Amino acid sequence: MAGTVHVIDVAGNLAVVKERIKKAMADVEQPGSAPEIVAVSKGHDVAAISKALMAGHRRFGENRVQEAQEKWPDLLGSYPDVALHLIGGLQSNKVDEAVALFDVIESLDRPRLARRLANAMAKLDRKPRLYIQVNVGEEPQKGGVSLKDLPALLDLCRKELGLEIDGLMCIPPKGDDPALYFALLAKLARRHGLTKLSMGMSADYEVAAAMGASSVRVGTAIFGERRS
Ligand SMILES: *Cc1c(COP(=O)(O)O)cnc(C)c1O
Repeated sequence: MAGTVHVIDVAGNLAVVKERIKKAMADVEQPGSAPEIVAVSKGHDVAAISKALMAGHRRFGENRVQEAQEKWPDLLGSYPDVALHLIGGLQSNKVDEAVALFDVIESLDRPRLARRLANAMAKLDRKPRLYIQVNVGEEPQKGGVSLKDLPALLDLCRKELGLEIDGLMCIPPKGDDPALYFALLAKLARRHGLTKLSMGMSADYEVAAAMGASSVRVGTAIFGERRS
């Protein structure tokens, strides 16, 4: 509402998300470990991020390289143990910057990008962990490799480029039951010998946690509505 000062309790929200994950996993028959929470700080300023840092949180996600470059270098100076995840589409001309800044890149989705990443990692002598994003709903407007192209992309990364792939990431189509897509992603990961699953956002992180997510990407439920 215009004129309303809205104070977001970031530390309290983080605690709620953790508690709800714990509850969601209590019903699972053979639960693994609870997923890591990637606090998605896109669209939020350094002041909001600082609240999470002061609450002890150290894992964050951004979806744009340039925005991350504007916000994070100073913060990383003060909090060198932060792990930064790139969760948005990566343009080929931003690969060097992304490799220099991020600890995990979750949006690898095409051969050209894999080649660029391999080059940049060699050149900069930095090895961010890599996830392949899968377009689980086969939506034309969405990033992510198609189901049919996933095996070839994995082969290229592993055999030709020597890139280690840690896991898979997905954003299910809006409106569908996310559980179907989380199950699909888990099945693909098992089939290809991958252990990490990045799935679940503010609306469905509990479902994802119960279905074996190793990390959930939560923005709004921690920081409130985005400003930009
Ligand atoms: C913005 C974003 C999120 C967080 O979304 P919320 O609904 O605010 O939790 C998670 N993953 C990706 C890829 C995003 O772009």
